[in-house]
Amino acid sequence: MDGILTKMGFSNTGTSYDIRPDYYLDMGQVRINLSELIGKRLALKYQNRKFCIHCGREVKKLFGQGFCYPCFIKVPEAEECVLRPELCRAHEGIARDMEFAKANCLIQHYVYLAWTGGLKVGVTRYHQIPTRWVDQGATYAVKLCNTPNRYSAGLVEVELKKIFADKTAWQRMLTDFQDPAVDFISSKAKALEFITGKDLTYTSEENTVYSIHYPISQFPAKVKSVNLEKESTVEGVLAGIKGQYLIFESGIVLNIRNHSGYLVDISF
Ligand SMILES: [Zn+2]
Repeated sequence: MDGILTKMGFSNTGTSYDIRPDYYLDMGQVRINLSELIGKRLALKYQNRKFCIHCGREVKKLFGQGFCYPCFIKVPEAEECVLRPELCRAHEGIARDMEFAKANCLIQHYVYLAWTGGLKVGVTRYHQIPTRWVDQGATYAVKLCNTPNRYSAGLVEVELKKIFADKTAWQRMLTDFQDPAVDFISSKAKALEFITGKDLTYTSEENTVYSIHYPISQFPAKVKSVNLEKESTVEGVLAGIKGQYLIFESGIVLNIRNHSGYLVDISF
């Protein structure tokens, strides 16, 4: 079946603190349950056509995570503060779209520590938990603090980047299956101690450590990421799903989100 790729969604079949994502992919009107395809053959064939995920226009090149150039420089979903919260200026009344900013920037945010094959710090809007963690392939996470808006969360994150990573090494994330030898509560205490007295706006959060269990039947020892632009067809037996990656038994992995806007034919 033909459809335009967008990021994978999930429903949580676990609890609020013990999250079990059941992944799906929406292709137009059809929803494919991907978790059910684990252990089965799956093929994605790129049809050599790309569409802007915002306006739907067919284009030669996509920007950001699936936008045509005019949308990339105009729509609030592609504004600079999406990737760099510390650059958000919505609290000063400046944004591409103030209505969007009111709903997405001028709301409570969390700064968190997550395990994605390594410990990292991150920022998310309050209602994006646990989506943000699942999208990143985190297996554990703990909230550090909440802030009144995106900008304040960005400032806390900038400070914490001095002692924690803020990026995920995808190879490590995808091959990591053992429990991390990290004490999340001590790491959190260290983080909070580090930001104390630095004139940052935040309120510390409860100590619950969240865990996330991905549908994976078999972890590959080594992974090789492929790109539909180069390979055009990706197929094999699906071994599992983690973050925004489909993991095939061969060790081939495909980041679905990075192919947002690509027209593909999916068969299984
Ligand atoms: Zn567009």
